[in-house]
Amino acid sequence: MGFRKPLIAGNWKMHGRRGDLTALKAVAEASGVAADAMDILFCPPHPLIAEAARLSQGLPLLIGAQDCAEFNDDGPYTGEVSAPMLRDVGASHVIVGHSERRAGRGETNTQVRVKAESAALAGLAPIVCVGETLDARMSGAAGEWVARQLAGSLPHVAPIGLTVAYEPIWCVGTDRTPTPREIEAMHAQVRAALSARFGSAAERVRVLYGGSVNPKNAAEILAIEGVDGALVGRASLNAADFAAIIAAHPAAR
Ligand code: PEP
Repeated sequence: MGFRKPLIAGNWKMHGRRGDLTALKAVAEASGVAADAMDILFCPPHPLIAEAARLSQGLPLLIGAQDCAEFNDDGPYTGEVSAPMLRDVGASHVIVGHSERRAGRGETNTQVRVKAESAALAGLAPIVCVGETLDARMSGAAGEWVARQLAGSLPHVAPIGLTVAYEPIWCVGTDRTPTPREIEAMHAQVRAALSARFGSAAERVRVLYGGSVNPKNAAEILAIEGVDGALVGRASLNAADFAAIIAAHPAAR
């Protein structure tokens, strides 16, 4: 297995004002992690990206977006923000297919794949989210659900920096998490699907766990075999909590 640098990503969702960006420096200082040990990524709302990118200069931090348009060419798409625009203001990554967009905005696997491919074309590393519903988990269909999402929403070739975030919907924003065995099993399944699709290029694709990661459960979750890091929602809004999660990763010690 090739070396995959761990990634801890914070998804601020629709939270934050410019003043809240003081958290970037606080997290970089409090976590004390060397840039070569781990990637730390902040994904604030679009209006904060340029300022976040400016403030992160000289700090071991990366800045990403939470979504991008499907198409890269400028045009009559009111309200949309393209991957080249995000890249232009300093983003290096973009989350696509978050469950709040799949469920809340009706995004399909095909749209997620097109967004991931557009992001890659613009030089952004896509973070493709997948994850089953509670019904699918309870009925034993979680594996099938995630397999279908991966088949439909991954780019046809593995772009540089491609990351998959396994985020069971029933764990996002709920304070619930799967058992460590369930996380390990799903990560093994995702890794097998990546290898089948991308061959040896799959070795550089990171697979993150996301869903109610917090300072209390981070050490256990981040030590699970096959977990290359975490996508963190609520706990990334608190600098001390986010720094504690980063510091809980085995690579930080
Ligand atoms: C998320 O928004 O991707 C997420 C995992 O949220 P939370 O950590 O709050 O469950």
